[in-house]
Amino acid sequence: MMEETKNIVLSRGHNVKNWQVLGNDCYALECADCKKTVMIKERPLPNEIKVGGEAVAVNCVKPVKEKKLRKK
Ligand SMILES: [Zn+2]
Repeated sequence: MMEETKNIVLSRGHNVKNWQVLGNDCYALECADCKKTVMIKERPLPNEIKVGGEAVAVNCVKPVKEKKLRKK
């Protein structure tokens, strides 16, 4: 379940590493590039979603790197 979710996030180009434990059965991943997150719950309540967050829904947008030369 967690591995599967991570693979989806990775396939969208996100730069994610380890799951952060948010407490209870809740885990989160944050993309180091675009700061989008995904959260999963291992045992969601009937009114809760199992997987949520922008990182599973949208592709990663890499931050624009600053140019080395700054001419005024
Ligand atoms: Zn990203």
